[in-house]
Amino acid sequence: MKSVTICIPCYNEADSLPELYDRLRTLMESEPEYDWHLLVVDDGSTDSTPHIVRQMAHDDPCVGYIILSRNFGKECALMAAIDRADSDAVVLMDADGQDPPQLVHDMLRYWEQGYQDVYTRRRSRGRESWMKRMFSTLFYRLMSATSRIDMPENVGDFRLLDRQCVETLRRIRETERYNKGLFSWIGFKKKELVFDRADRTRGNTHWSFMRLTDLALEAITSFTTAPLRLATIIGAITALGAFCFTVFYIAKTLIIGDPVQGFTTLVSIMLFLGGVQLLSIGILGEYIARIYGESKHRPMYVIRETNNGKEQ
Ligand code: UDP
Ligand code: MG
Repeated sequence: MKSVTICIPCYNEADSLPELYDRLRTLMESEPEYDWHLLVVDDGSTDSTPHIVRQMAHDDPCVGYIILSRNFGKECALMAAIDRADSDAVVLMDADGQDPPQLVHDMLRYWEQGYQDVYTRRRSRGRESWMKRMFSTLFYRLMSATSRIDMPENVGDFRLLDRQCVETLRRIRETERYNKGLFSWIGFKKKELVFDRADRTRGNTHWSFMRLTDLALEAITSFTTAPLRLATIIGAITALGAFCFTVFYIAKTLIIGDPVQGFTTLVSIMLFLGGVQLLSIGILGEYIARIYGESKHRPMYVIRETNNGKEQ
C-alpha cells in the first residue's frame, strides 16, 4: 500500500482548520487504497491553532503535528513537514481552504502515471489589487529573464511530490529559502494542473506588501546574480560617459578657454554618480546579507512539540 502525507503549514488558522479537516477526511475516505497521513505544522500561531491540532491528533491516529517554537514563516514551516513526512508521496496544501482537496485525486492519477512533481497553476489570481498583479508580473519576467531555472507564473506550493523529490529537497539546507524556486530547481518529471483558486473565506492573508517584497528579494538573490551584473554594467556605462565628458570639457577649455561655469552640470553629475554608487552598494549589501545569514548555519526551524516520532 502506497503512503501519502498531506502537509499543512498553519499560522493562526483556527477558523479554517476544522473545515479543511472535514474536507480532507472525505478525500481520504474516497481513496482507501492509499495509506493516508496528515502532518500539520503550527508555525507559532497566537490563536487556538495548537490546541485544535493536538485535539485532531488525539482523535485521529493518522494526524501528526509539529508545533514550532515561534513563527518561522511558511517556507520554513513547510520544510519542517517535508523533513518529517515519511511516505511515498507528500501533498503540500494551505490551511485556508484555497487549495481544493478534490484536485488531489488528479494528482494521484498523474503520480501513478510516473510524474514526480504534480504542481498546480491558478487560472486567475482572484481578488487582488492591480499593484500586486503588476509587481507579480514584473517579478516573474525578471526571474525568467535572468535565472536559468524555469519558474512558471501563478504556480503556488499546492503540489504532490514523490519520495525522490522530497529526499532531494531535504538535502538543500539553505535557510534563506524560496521554496517555489527550489521546486523548479530540483527538476524531475513535472506535470501541471490548472485550477480556479477560491478566495480566502476565513481569516486574512498573512502576506503583507512588505513581506511579499521580502520574499521576492529572497527569490531574486537566491536564484540570480543579475542585479550584480546590472550594477557592473551601469558602472561601466557611467565611467565611459564620464570619460567622454571629461575629454569634451578639456578640449573645450583648451580651445575656447572657458572660465568658471557649469555649476549645474557639476552638481547633477555628482548627484547622479552618488545615486548609482549607493544603489550598487545596496545591491551588494543584499547579497552579503544572504551570505551572512547562511554562514551562521542556524537551523531552519525549531520544534517545540511533536507527536511525529523522530526527535530532532
Ligand atoms: N503560513 C505559515 N506561516 C506564516 C504565514 C503563513 O505557515 O508565517 C501558512 C498559512 O497558515 C496558510 C499558508 O501558509 O496555510 C498560506 O498563507 P496565506 O493563506 O496567508 O497566503 P496566500 O494564500 O495569501 O498566498
Ligand atoms: Mg491563502
